[in-house]
Amino acid sequence: MGEFLDRLKKFMQTDEELKEVHQIQGYYETILQHKGSLEKMIAHCEDYQFDFQYEKDESKMNRGKIIVYLCEHDNEEEWLYDIPIDYHYIINLEDDDRDWGYCQCTPEDKLYNPIYKCCGNGCDWTAPRITIEKVENILCEEFDGIERDMWELKVKWENAEQKTEEEIKREQNELQLTRIKQQIEQLQNRQRELESELTN
Ligand SMILES: [Zn+2]
Repeated sequence: MGEFLDRLKKFMQTDEELKEVHQIQGYYETILQHKGSLEKMIAHCEDYQFDFQYEKDESKMNRGKIIVYLCEHDNEEEWLYDIPIDYHYIINLEDDDRDWGYCQCTPEDKLYNPIYKCCGNGCDWTAPRITIEKVENILCEEFDGIERDMWELKVKWENAEQKTEEEIKREQNELQLTRIKQQIEQLQNRQRELESELTN
């Protein structure tokens, strides 16, 4: 357990993007606070070779994720050959919004901290929250064919798209035609009404 946690901590402290994450120390602490629930995952990781990678969240909805990749080293080979494992873990760094009340702390308060301009208890703040996922790879297979097959597929693919466009156009025309017929019918009815009024 120690190896995993030590390496994770070092990664969180040294990765250029990750170390800038708001309250990064709190995310590590949250993992420590719940490490009892993570025993199985950590043991799995330590059975293999593991590596971390940080991915920023472009939508900025949360603070990104740490991906834990696992692989096995094949020692039969002369060089170290990585055999991927069919699952990996994702540690999501999220926000826990604690809307505890608008800060009205003043320097007169006993526990007031001038750096944060707050007493740090009872006011609105965002705490770290983590969600960990185990992701199973269910397929990793290549395209079965030669390059020329791909060219044929491209033609079929684009023709299929075109056909759909033609179909859409046809449907639009049919709809328009139905409306025109309805309008003609209405006008003819009105024409008959007016003619009969005039003859009477
Ligand atoms: Zn406050």
